Amino acid sequence: NTEEEQTEDYLFKIVLVGDSAVGKSNLLARFARDEFYPNSKSTIGVEFQTQKMEINGKEVKAQIWDTAGQERFRAVTSAYYRGAVGALLVYDISRRQTFDSIGRWLNELHTHSDMNVVTILVGNKSDLKDAREVTTAEGKALAEAQGLFFIETSALDSSNVAIAFQMVVKEIYHILS
Ligand code: GDP
Ligand code: MG
Repeated sequence: NTEEEQTEDYLFKIVLVGDSAVGKSNLLARFARDEFYPNSKSTIGVEFQTQKMEINGKEVKAQIWDTAGQERFRAVTSAYYRGAVGALLVYDISRRQTFDSIGRWLNELHTHSDMNVVTILVGNKSDLKDAREVTTAEGKALAEAQGLFFIETSALDSSNVAIAFQMVVKEIYHILS
């Protein structure tokens, strides 16, 4: 069975959601390209990036969507969410305001996509230990209350970034297979 013959078994649309500057684009850059932009502007994002993964010997493609900064204006369109089966709901552990916004993003996600979209709450910038404003316990508690997976990541030092995406993709795979 050559690579050419291998068929594409699954394609999952996954969306990145959360306030501006929480690190959505850098989480995707780290995961898909192992890159990090210390002074990134909202324009670095691509519309989506497709990443191949292997789960139980099956090739799975995660099509991961990033915003082009429109979340700053609360203007993420329904087309962005349409067809999504997974979501990373991202806040910045060093800015409480971004954690307080999670409820609003969750509402928006549920308004525009299937209620069963597999969602992980992601507390990004875990490297900023001295600037932490949201405890791990608070993140966990919110995730439990809303029925979400939970993880803290750092796009800067790479910790838990791949795991965060993999958790979502694995769960979708288990639900659909
Ligand atoms: P987005 O608006 O949510 O897409 O956020 P960006 O990915 O553009 O990141 C916003 C800013 O936060 C940039 O200056 C990044 O370099 C920075 N940033 C992103 N992730 C991390 C992280 O894990 N740790 C630290 N310290 N900075 C980060
Ligand atoms: Mg961005």
